[in-house]
Amino acid sequence: VNARFGKDDEGRSRLEREQDSDKVWTADLVLLAIGYTGPEPDGIVGRLRLDLDERGNVRCDAEYMTSRPGVFSAGDMRRGQSLVVWAISEGREAARAADRYLTGYTSLPTKGTGDLPRAR
Ligand SMILES: Cc1cc2nc3c(=O)[nH]c(=O)nc-3n(C[C@H](O)[C@H](O)[C@H](O)COP(=O)(O)OP(=O)(O)OC[C@H]3O[C@@H](n4cnc5c(N)ncnc54)[C@H](O)[C@@H]3O)c2cc1C
Repeated sequence: VNARFGKDDEGRSRLEREQDSDKVWTADLVLLAIGYTGPEPDGIVGRLRLDLDERGNVRCDAEYMTSRPGVFSAGDMRRGQSLVVWAISEGREAARAADRYLTGYTSLPTKGTGDLPRAR
């Protein structure tokens, strides 16, 4: 099956099947090497009704908090497919923000820029 990116009703990118593009090959082993399509909207994201950005990633404020107060997100779920160094960095910053949210104070370390890295 061929697939191409289309848009859903809310303008978000979505993979769509190309009609009549089915092909059959016999194989002993198939490895899927496909790109990411963002967080699954039907799982915890849907149950918590978290806002998504235009790319389907979980929208957060500058403190890594989602549209649901007290729920934080970081890494691929927030910024989309990226690098493990970003996931580590954002996880640490989000933990710091959660600590401050829960206790009103934090002594956890920060990179100190104060800016939320842009999602890419
Ligand atoms: C094939 C491949 C190769 C890659 N190669 C590189 C590379 O060479 N260099 C590089 O820097 N990056 C690479 N990456 C990207 C890197 O792996 C990711 O950017 C990074 O792992 C993101 O970390 P994360 O913690 O945000 O998400 P994840 O690593 O995806 O962690 C999310 C975790 O949450 C768990 N989870 C999901 N739903 C729930 C739930 N409801 N409850 C509890 N747990 C849940 C999942 O099981 C998972 O363990 C690669 C990715 C892939 C897939």
